[in-house]
Amino acid sequence: MGIADSGTGGNGQPRADLLVVGAGVAGLWLSLKAARAGLSVALIERDRIGAGASGGFLGALMPHSPERWNEKKDFQFRALVDLEAEIAALESETGLPCGYRRVGRILPLHSQRARETALANIPQARTNWSDRFRFEVSNTPDRHDWPSILWAPRGIVHETLSARLSPPALLSALAARLGQMSNVMIREGVALTGISHRERRARLSDGSAIAFGHIVLANGVDAFSMIAQAQETPDLELGGPVKGQAALLDAGAPPDLPVVYHDGVYVLVHENGLVAVGSTSEREFDDPTGTDGRLDDILKRARKLCPLIREAPVVGRWAGVRPRAVGRDPMLGPVPGTPHVLAMTGGFKISFGIAHRMADCLIAHVSGSEGPACPESFSVETHTAKAEPSGKTR
Ligand SMILES: Cc1cc2nc3c(=O)[nH]c(=O)nc-3n(C[C@H](O)[C@H](O)[C@H](O)COP(=O)(O)OP(=O)(O)OC[C@H]3O[C@@H](n4cnc5c(N)ncnc54)[C@H](O)[C@@H]3O)c2cc1C
Repeated sequence: MGIADSGTGGNGQPRADLLVVGAGVAGLWLSLKAARAGLSVALIERDRIGAGASGGFLGALMPHSPERWNEKKDFQFRALVDLEAEIAALESETGLPCGYRRVGRILPLHSQRARETALANIPQARTNWSDRFRFEVSNTPDRHDWPSILWAPRGIVHETLSARLSPPALLSALAARLGQMSNVMIREGVALTGISHRERRARLSDGSAIAFGHIVLANGVDAFSMIAQAQETPDLELGGPVKGQAALLDAGAPPDLPVVYHDGVYVLVHENGLVAVGSTSEREFDDPTGTDGRLDDILKRARKLCPLIREAPVVGRWAGVRPRAVGRDPMLGPVPGTPHVLAMTGGFKISFGIAHRMADCLIAHVSGSEGPACPESFSVETHTAKAEPSGKTR
């Protein structure tokens, strides 16, 4: 069913069952899942696909630690397991590779305490991650340069659940698949400027309007203020931006090397041998997309951590702002008081691993069908209870 045929927008206005705002990894997966479920979808993007946080090049898919298991960790674990098949299906539909590989991860152990914690996590991983994935502690890495033994005086953890993908390749594949579907309309260069709740109509920056059954605010950091406005608590700061900087190096590295993660620095190899290094976490910044000396510091640490990239030239520098909700959990589900307005944001540092499953939750909600359990801590209500008036976010 085409957008214009899917109902009465009135005045010849277009109408979509689902209006998705923002074409980052969240909005793209959501649009695809909705279209597959037979809904008519309009996806509007202020700038261009991948213009926000999703436009970088890291794509690490790393689990939370296996101890103190909870609903959020379970949600992310299931998402990381499912993503492999989701990507395979998308690749076969489009013929476009997404640069996905389950390469695992190495965590160097720098103290006896860290080693003891890691050893205690072995049975936790067996219980919570299932037998399919290993979580092992060993005394030395397989290679002397990935990571350096100097950074792993107490050995390493090697787990086999982590993976990586190429963010630009995934976004291209998602966009290509959406382009093949007759029930999807994508408009780039058009922003949502307002919502008329009673009429279920969205106002757009080009002066046009679009009617909807449901609207999903998947517009990254900009979603927080719109969600607060929709639930008539405009002063509440439901989340905000955390800037991150990353670099890409021409290292010709083997693409099956595990991700290396240590103390906020992570290093991963893409299918083409380029190595991505990230990332800073900045709450205060002036320029959201500029890179500076903070990235050079991360690079210096990464080169020491993984001598394989010691001399590798930098071929890309990038910065973006991640959407971080109060309390750090993703924000997903209906906005209180306006059940046709839904939130899908706040994926912070893990969106690429969970966006497809977040989308499944919302589509189940919209279509009244069975879907994955969505942790209570993701709900807009929970975030609202934690939020403070602007300028005082915890
Ligand atoms: C340096 C760095 C490294 C990272 N590394 C990883 C990683 O390794 N693994 C991982 O999982 N995550 C990582 N992240 C986090 C991840 O990139 C984000 O969590 C994710 O991209 C958020 O996706 P999103 O779709 O919610 O938001 P975005 O990608 O920001 O998309 C929101 C979109 O909405 C659009 N928009 C805004 N307002 C409007 C409006 N009014 N109307 C229409 N459109 C609008 C924007 O233009 C934008 O395109 C990293 C982030 C950074 C910055």
